[in-house]
Amino acid sequence: MPVRFPHPEPVRPARPKVFPVFLPLAGCPGRCLYCNQPAQTGQAPVALADVLARARADILARPEADGPVELAYYGGTFTALPSPWPERFLDLAAELRTLGRVCRVRCSTRPDAVTPALLASLRARGLDLIELGVQSFSDAALAASRRGYDGATALAACRMVRAAGLGLGVQLLPGMPGMEGPQGLKAFARDIATVTGLAPESAPELVRLYPCLVLEGTELAGLWRAGSFTPWTLPDTVDALARALRSLWAAGIPAARLGLAEQAGLAVLAGPRHPAIGQMARARALLLHVRGLLAALPAPASTLYVPKRWQGEVLGQGNALRAEYAGLGLRAAAWGEAEFGLG
Ligand code: SF4
Repeated sequence: MPVRFPHPEPVRPARPKVFPVFLPLAGCPGRCLYCNQPAQTGQAPVALADVLARARADILARPEADGPVELAYYGGTFTALPSPWPERFLDLAAELRTLGRVCRVRCSTRPDAVTPALLASLRARGLDLIELGVQSFSDAALAASRRGYDGATALAACRMVRAAGLGLGVQLLPGMPGMEGPQGLKAFARDIATVTGLAPESAPELVRLYPCLVLEGTELAGLWRAGSFTPWTLPDTVDALARALRSLWAAGIPAARLGLAEQAGLAVLAGPRHPAIGQMARARALLLHVRGLLAALPAPASTLYVPKRWQGEVLGQGNALRAEYAGLGLRAAAWGEAEFGLG
């Protein structure tokens, strides 16, 4: 009888569809070295009044039968928007919540743009979750990227968000300036250890990992052209993401996103870009998990039984991991069970 085991990724509770409303660079203290929000989101900066009106119209235009959405204000520093804009955006969410069109509200912001008083007031106005653009907890990486805060500030902000009764999302930028080469890979592993080491009352609900790319139109593009910045390679990045995933999964934290969403017009000059980078990392994370399970089995196994729904993913892009499974003495076999098996 094969030894059965579930996929190690935590089962995510059913959530409503996220409806993003982009506020590119709104509220940001400047433009970060690597950031080109207009290209990343495919949205040019527009007047906030127009964003507000458009969001209202677009949500009301959705068929009611599709159910309420989670409204997400992304692309800028929401908590640093000049008053009364945070209030106006949250009041819109409250109005749409009353109409049954919105059931949850989140925003993204920077770790140095939150205070307990501000978070309490936003929570009272209906905000449910904050995604913090932490990028890293490494003082060296934060300084090299000129983020303007240190690791202690980032960690305190995570705790502050949860202490305010809000859900927390953590966004990291592995391979950012100051996180290059083998030392950078270690710094990213420490970032993941910091996230997974947060006490349950401060733990995030989700993590997003955006490996650093060199985008046209950024200051980083100039540094890269001058030879002053070297992005991570794709293999190093996939391996680092896989190890990160394995740790996050073990801590019960899902990774909501791996890599930037592909946008028409997003000019990537260099860096670990691949449309299937998330799938590649997930497949490798599963391989690492299987390797760990094999070592604990009382007798060697020769077959990895793969549930049908996972067949497309387990061996990786172009069956790239087949040889690695073979190196563990395993061949992959399809089966109709819900769980994986080793036998
Ligand atoms: S990285 Fe975040 S804080 Fe920096 S400019 Fe872009 S959106 Fe603003």
